[in-house]
Amino acid sequence: MYINGQWIEAKDKKKFSVLNPANGKVIAQVPDGGEAEAIMAVAAADKAFPIWSSRTAYKRSSFLYDAHRLMMEDLESLAQIMTEEQGKPIQSARNEVRYGADFLLWFAEEVKRIYGRTISSSRSDQRFIVIKQPVGVVAAITPWNYPMSMITRKVAPALAAGCTIVLKPAEATPICAMEIFKLLEKAGLPKGVANLVTALDPEPVGRVFTTDKRIQKLTFTGSTDIGKMLAREAAGQMKRISLELGGHAPFIVCKDADPIRAAKGLSLVKFLNTGQACISPNRIYVHSTMKESFLKMLKEKVDLMIPGNGMTPGVKIGPLVNEAEIEKVNSQVKDAVNHGATLVTGGFRIIDNELDKGYFYAPTILDNVTKEMRIYREETFGPVAPVITYEDEDDLLKMANDTDYGLAAYVYTKSYSTAMKFFEGLNFGIIGINDINPTSAAAPFGGMKMSGIGREGAFEGIEEYLETKSGGFSLNT
Ligand code: ADP
Repeated sequence: MYINGQWIEAKDKKKFSVLNPANGKVIAQVPDGGEAEAIMAVAAADKAFPIWSSRTAYKRSSFLYDAHRLMMEDLESLAQIMTEEQGKPIQSARNEVRYGADFLLWFAEEVKRIYGRTISSSRSDQRFIVIKQPVGVVAAITPWNYPMSMITRKVAPALAAGCTIVLKPAEATPICAMEIFKLLEKAGLPKGVANLVTALDPEPVGRVFTTDKRIQKLTFTGSTDIGKMLAREAAGQMKRISLELGGHAPFIVCKDADPIRAAKGLSLVKFLNTGQACISPNRIYVHSTMKESFLKMLKEKVDLMIPGNGMTPGVKIGPLVNEAEIEKVNSQVKDAVNHGATLVTGGFRIIDNELDKGYFYAPTILDNVTKEMRIYREETFGPVAPVITYEDEDDLLKMANDTDYGLAAYVYTKSYSTAMKFFEGLNFGIIGINDINPTSAAAPFGGMKMSGIGREGAFEGIEEYLETKSGGFSLNT
């Protein structure tokens, strides 16, 4: 753990094992922290806050530029560590390191653009001035699916804004977090400004985060259930919250779209990170007249995807994170088939070539999916593409919006007006129009409804860590 500028063990020297999900082997033992360490970390962040927040924006920027440079210099070794710990194919891990570094760069630039404003008053002797100030000490909880970029997406804007931070990474991927902290340290992080608490049981640390009065803000990326629970607890002290939660993205192929291009796009975005992404398409709407050609191309692409250890050249499908995820995905597929869905390909756990030691699920296409199936409503964190046939395009918007989630949505169409109708009518925070990668450090990321509160990246990303203060100044003294 990294607390107050020092790498430390847990107080009671307890550790927990981190496994490689591709083969179940233990890759490291890391400190198993809890309440005591979380409190120490909060104290360090609280103490460091006045010093860090009074640094000029230019100084904070310069630190983030250095961290960005170091992350890019270390790209290859960071990617290898990520593949070993999280499982994604090495090329995807490299992409994630770049994406993670982008947040350091973006906020190194954005920190210089924290503006206030002046407002006219109806009184001739009065002036209003609005300034932005850092919220204070931030607590952050991050997931395992994007184990580096989800950290920089929170740490970079927090530090840019002048906040100090305590981070608890997911128990499946603490090593990636340690690597990020090593490079922050190398970039000259002053002690206490960013602190890392690793823990097998997230609850005691989470409780400190939601109840310690010194923490002003909680930022969380993870499941909707845990997000709701944390928001409820944090409400006790009215802490500021940002929540990036689950999704259930529709992928709409309109009647005028090119089904081949849409199928190719889907094959890339659906199976990215083995489907373990909150913006992964979960309901694929295809018109009956083009379904055959769409499915043919999709199956062709999926059949070429080689599952395996992400370090093996050519592998495109890594493992799922653990046994429980395999079971969840498998039970959703079974439920769909029992209710009349057709398996186009996949639908089983892979056990050949020693893959039984890891958590591999075959890339799967389900056709004839309907509303009655669990997979139509539940988030699928796995490599399953559920295809739904539609007849009437007028119903599409309503069907796509018929979910509690509101994170990402994708639309394929050749018509500008149809694109605009969907862009404006979809109740989702991130929309890809003929585009499968609508994300960037420069663009706001976040969801509506049960997908969360707040945005990350872009200028909105730094706003989340700032308070607005309004001053009325009389010229009469
Ligand atoms: P997932 O299903 O993607 O693992 P979780 O919401 O369970 O999503 O995990 C996301 C993050 O939330 C992880 O860092 C995990 O340790 C943390 N987390 C899970 N349960 C709690 C809890 N009770 N209190 C605080 N953090 C938690």
